[in-house]
Amino acid sequence: MSKFLKFHCDLDNFITDLTKKLEKNNKQVEILLKQENKSYANFVKPLEMMDEYLEHFFTPLSHLNAVNNSEKTQEVYTDSLPIITQYSTQLSQNINIYNAYKNILEKENDSLNYEQKRVLELNILHFELSGAHLDEKTKTRLQEINIKKSELSNNFSQNLLDATNAYEYIITDEEDLKGLPQSEIENAKFQDNGIIKYKFTLQMPSYIAYITYGKNREIREELYRAYVSRAPQNAQIIDELLRLRNEMSKLLGFDNYAEFSLATKMAQDKDSVINFLEDLLDNTIPQAKNELHELQTIAPYTLQSHDTSYYAEVLKKEHYDIDEEEYRPYFEQKNVVEGMFTFLNKLFNLTCKKIDEQLWHEKAYAYDVYENNILKARIYLDLEARESKRGGAWMHNWQAHCIDERGEEQLASAFVVCNFPPSSKKNPSLLRHDDVVTLFHETGHTLHHILSKVNENEVSGVNGVEWDAVEFPSQFLENFAYEPKVLKIFAKHYKTNEIISDAMINKLVKSKNFLSAMGMLRQLEFSLFDFKLHTKVYQGAEVQNLLDTLREKTALIKPAKYNKFQNGFAHIFSGGYAAGYYSYKWAEVLSADVFYAVMDEGVFTSDTAKQYQNIILHKGGSKSMQELFHELMNRDANTKQLLRLNGIK
Ligand SMILES: [Zn+2]
Repeated sequence: MSKFLKFHCDLDNFITDLTKKLEKNNKQVEILLKQENKSYANFVKPLEMMDEYLEHFFTPLSHLNAVNNSEKTQEVYTDSLPIITQYSTQLSQNINIYNAYKNILEKENDSLNYEQKRVLELNILHFELSGAHLDEKTKTRLQEINIKKSELSNNFSQNLLDATNAYEYIITDEEDLKGLPQSEIENAKFQDNGIIKYKFTLQMPSYIAYITYGKNREIREELYRAYVSRAPQNAQIIDELLRLRNEMSKLLGFDNYAEFSLATKMAQDKDSVINFLEDLLDNTIPQAKNELHELQTIAPYTLQSHDTSYYAEVLKKEHYDIDEEEYRPYFEQKNVVEGMFTFLNKLFNLTCKKIDEQLWHEKAYAYDVYENNILKARIYLDLEARESKRGGAWMHNWQAHCIDERGEEQLASAFVVCNFPPSSKKNPSLLRHDDVVTLFHETGHTLHHILSKVNENEVSGVNGVEWDAVEFPSQFLENFAYEPKVLKIFAKHYKTNEIISDAMINKLVKSKNFLSAMGMLRQLEFSLFDFKLHTKVYQGAEVQNLLDTLREKTALIKPAKYNKFQNGFAHIFSGGYAAGYYSYKWAEVLSADVFYAVMDEGVFTSDTAKQYQNIILHKGGSKSMQELFHELMNRDANTKQLLRLNGIK
């Protein structure tokens, strides 16, 4: 019998099957709870596997809905969401499960291994972070807060969307369009009473196009002003959200929201986050000043915020621009995939063998992955764009490595999805270098999941990995897509077989690092603002004051008074990044640090690469990444290596 599930999703009967499964699960929970002597083996393990099997059943539907979207998949998916949400909410509020977990952790503390302890600790933590263990009055208040919070977040993004859509700038003089790419001009073009005019809006592609290529400085400023002063009514929402987040954190036993946020993250405490960001900041400022100076030399006036994108583009064209079309022939999809497998073979002794299996689309392929010649996992690659596929790229985990309730080993599996140019009988799929980077990135996530040797599925692979550490393995692998030693394995012209030159690779790296210090400064400003904002209750003018104080250091060009960036900071006010925006940089530092250790040891002969495989990839979420990183490097992460990766000296 195959060690892997067969990809299968019966859309017609999905809802009936799902409902039956959940009913059965609920009955099973009752039976498990009634047991007299609850133990890890007879209580936790079956519950854990129940979850795993539900994922096995549900993942094909969400996968299909994302890669072969149709009215039918949408309908079934939409219908199933409330059912599954109700089920999991009920479970996460079941205080009897919480109490049982706490008992078992205490009773079996001496005999449980660290994986099992972590399963219990994380589950207990999640119960406690939702307040399920508190008294009724507090629980009711927490519920009110949650409802209010999601309402406010929703209003925040709605206001932003309305403001974005309400604005347009009409250009009638074609002189003002000079310098814009023809495609952008075509996008902006419309007819008004037989007269041709051009419309620019605050929607990303349109706004970016003018602010980057538009020659007319006044129009640039007008657009910029409109953009950074959107949704002034969001200021009030910010105040209210900050108050509610603080109240919630206090009810759950934290001093403030920043501390609540850190409870599920790798970063140990407030100071380590702030010191980390400030350290990066101090080391970035000198080069950012130089970069701005270089920009300033080609501008005829003192640069303002609405000028930098424009002059950056001018400078880039002059020195650092790469012509995608020149690169594409070197990145033929099949060559890239096989070349990446060769690279993984040399680095981790992995072998990928294509298998013959009926999948959801003729362009999707399955591979069995062997580690040191032992069958380890299965991956599914679906790499080409098509109409029915959602945009972007991602890894979706399916099975997790574990030992099941019968004591049998279950192997892992995952889907890698990208949107590369489609191949046809006549033409191969030729990638941009960015696409190659994307493939390495998603494969990095995939390896983190499938190479797990953990026996408890809830902390196996990417399961149980902290939020600010998830991007570590993906960024680690992605960095190799710029390395001559790696690129030369597979980057050969698909017609002539000529291998990519050092000069071409060098240009890729230069272009990646173009104005990187200025970019870093911006990200650090966002991160520091977000994090400090959640360390106490900032209200009204205090919010702006905090931002202004930070900007004394982070903003090399003082933004105009009308700039109310915070009213559009959707990541933290309507997304999941509150007191967590720093995570981007945090994971980048881990990955850059280990990447250079491997590089400096000669890549394929590197001992750190072996250790990375044994510690980070094999142990998944079974220990905090803080612990795993120390096991690997015997020290904290070194921010200098991120600066090195970005070409910041
Ligand atoms: Zn990622």
